[in-house]
Amino acid sequence: PPTEGRPDVIIVGGGIGGLSTAFALAREGLRIRVLERAPEFGEVGAGLQIAPNCTRILDEYGLLDEAKELGVVPENMVMRDALDSRELIRLDLGDLERRYGFPYMVIHRSDLHAIFLRACRKAGVDLVTDQTVVDYENLGNTAGGARITLADGRTEEAPLVIAADGLRSVARQKLVGDDVVSSDYVAYRAAVPIDAVRDNGIAEKDVTVYVGPRCHFVQYALRGGDMFNQVAVFQSPKALAGQEDWGTPDELDAAFEGTCETVGKGIPLMWRDRWWQMMDRDPIDTWIHGRIALLGDAAHPPLQYMAQGAIMAIEDGWVLSRHVARLRAGAAAGSAVDWDAALAAYEAVRVEHCRRILTTARAWGELWHLDGTERLQRNAIMRGIDPAEYAFTDWVYGPTALFPDEEPPMFRPVPLASARIEEDEAAVSD
Ligand code: FAD
Repeated sequence: PPTEGRPDVIIVGGGIGGLSTAFALAREGLRIRVLERAPEFGEVGAGLQIAPNCTRILDEYGLLDEAKELGVVPENMVMRDALDSRELIRLDLGDLERRYGFPYMVIHRSDLHAIFLRACRKAGVDLVTDQTVVDYENLGNTAGGARITLADGRTEEAPLVIAADGLRSVARQKLVGDDVVSSDYVAYRAAVPIDAVRDNGIAEKDVTVYVGPRCHFVQYALRGGDMFNQVAVFQSPKALAGQEDWGTPDELDAAFEGTCETVGKGIPLMWRDRWWQMMDRDPIDTWIHGRIALLGDAAHPPLQYMAQGAIMAIEDGWVLSRHVARLRAGAAAGSAVDWDAALAAYEAVRVEHCRRILTTARAWGELWHLDGTERLQRNAIMRGIDPAEYAFTDWVYGPTALFPDEEPPMFRPVPLASARIEEDEAAVSD
């Protein structure tokens, strides 16, 4: 049933971050209201990779079986060179599941969003659409809570307001005031019937990433294998030249000229009526401003190269809800949530983890998009990595830390200059 009167928490934004957090907090018995700007709850885009650090949380929520039914659990994650299609590294996702206890899977983003929407409805979350929040304000000392103002001038108050309003967050603008950072890269997406790509040399059971000079291309099956997801990402010359209208379809075709056959056959299938200019923000240390908390992309929008953006948002809500549960377990029955303590604990652990993902995603992008000798050095290093060492996945795919001392050490890759390039490869250098 919809919440009567003042909720415990107002969440602004009903994306994957807002809805998953609403569900996590509703499970703790709190009254949650979600305010979404759009006329309907939904997601645009196509596939989403969800790694074991996310499927572990879905399992705890009782939502993993539903996600597996709607998604696909691929067999391998394979990285290839986009020019000569040589294999660089292969992760056996069965081994990965054995290591982390939970699967690496892919799902249509609207399916994952719908899973959380249904879960929120069942948990009694008050879900309201057509609500554009234009302002945020703390009410006196933190105990007073916070107030939001809607576009029509109405206001609402709660002990806690969570801003999960995405990359272009109004709350982030007001409280931090930093700018988004353009990467000059743009993403094209497509989800097509599997029959449209069967003859393209695809690996239906794998997640494949082709990395190439100033571009990369991702492929995997979706919806029980009936659909095939493709993401094409490239650096826009128009963006580099400072033009407004950058990342247009003519640039897509030019960027992938000279790539291997499978990539070349995939490019004509990309959706051409919509593209995503890739932006992130610099990491920030403060996500909590009184009783206004930033969460998900509003707090830490990444470049998507680690495929952890939606996952970080889901982890944020889980961490906050675990701290609520922990603090309540130690408090007198019926007492109010100690939000100051819960928010401090949330910020203490999440800021550093997400900073690592954001900075690694930028570095990962640079590594993927290398050209010339550096490309060959990268390939040599990638081929030399033993995936069974797990040093480069443990800090991401292991259990989500609740306290800073649980955060595993970060993986530090070996320097490019240490690579030994094989002679036959140097010969095919571009
Ligand atoms: P959003 O999804 O942006 O949701 C914000 C919500 O707030 C929206 O519903 C919006 O309408 C609403 N809103 C905004 N302003 C207001 C307002 N003023 N008032 C009320 N409501 C408002 N992540 C992964 O984990 N795995 C992947 O494989 C992956 N692949 C990606 C591929 C691409 C090409 C891209 C672009 C991203 C990818 N990501 C991936 C990242 C992921 O999509 C985002 O990090 C994630 O969706 C962020 O969720 P969010 O809920 O924080 O923000």
